[in-house]
Amino acid sequence: MLKFTNVFKNYDKSVLADINMEVEEGEFISILGPSGSGKSTILRLASKLIKPSRGKISYQRNKPPSIGFVFQDATLMPWRNVLDNIILPLELKGVRRNISTKKAAEWIMKVGLEGKENSFPGELSGGQKMRVSLARSMVTDCDLLLLDEPFAALDEITRRKLEEDLLKIWKREKFTILLVTHSVSEAVYLSERVIVLSMGPGKIISDKKIFKENFDQDFRNSQQLFDLNKTVYNLLAREENS
Ligand code: ADP
Ligand code: MG
Repeated sequence: MLKFTNVFKNYDKSVLADINMEVEEGEFISILGPSGSGKSTILRLASKLIKPSRGKISYQRNKPPSIGFVFQDATLMPWRNVLDNIILPLELKGVRRNISTKKAAEWIMKVGLEGKENSFPGELSGGQKMRVSLARSMVTDCDLLLLDEPFAALDEITRRKLEEDLLKIWKREKFTILLVTHSVSEAVYLSERVIVLSMGPGKIISDKKIFKENFDQDFRNSQQLFDLNKTVYNLLAREENS
């Protein structure tokens, strides 16, 4: 659905150098890389918030995809309750209130926030705020979900719950996900493909499919996951130490 062809990005220095990447419809891809390797820049390019300095980014669809973008900070409006925060993108699109309320209520269920419709962000935990942020990004039926370290600030238990729920939602809704994360285990556990960037200027040093079909029921605690983690971790560690 999305293709990067020889993409370069320069600010005062080179940030991304020759990125080639093809994203299939419905894929769940994680992007790992050292700090400053250009991970967030790739998401901004994919969302067309910024333009490449050189090269081409194309969408192979009839119409441009609807894009959801989620950041590490949930960035909610403190004066709006949960329902009204989630409704916001629909409101901006001019969707009628009765339709948008129904849609938002649907997403409140999907992200596990039932009963919190009327709570304000100040009354929510970090995990709940992130759930609101996820629902807000998906409420417009996005085709492509861009996630920039969305779980990085959460404690381990909350993080795992959100990861499981995201996985369930992705399996049901079948949109495409590009997830930037610092966590090797998160990348390997969640996605079908892991892309590793080099130290800046970022180049793709590994693009690896993760085949999970024949894996244990208890994948989270399996030897297979342990081995995959080790392989990807070694790649990244080599880069961080180079
Ligand atoms: P990552 O997300 O992998 O940590 P970023 O994509 O945020 O990396 O940034 C990559 C590099 O580009 C960094 O060195 C950063 O300082 C630089 N950079 C990002 N955005 C800008 C900008 N708007 N202006 C100048 N430099 C930028
Ligand atoms: Mg970043």
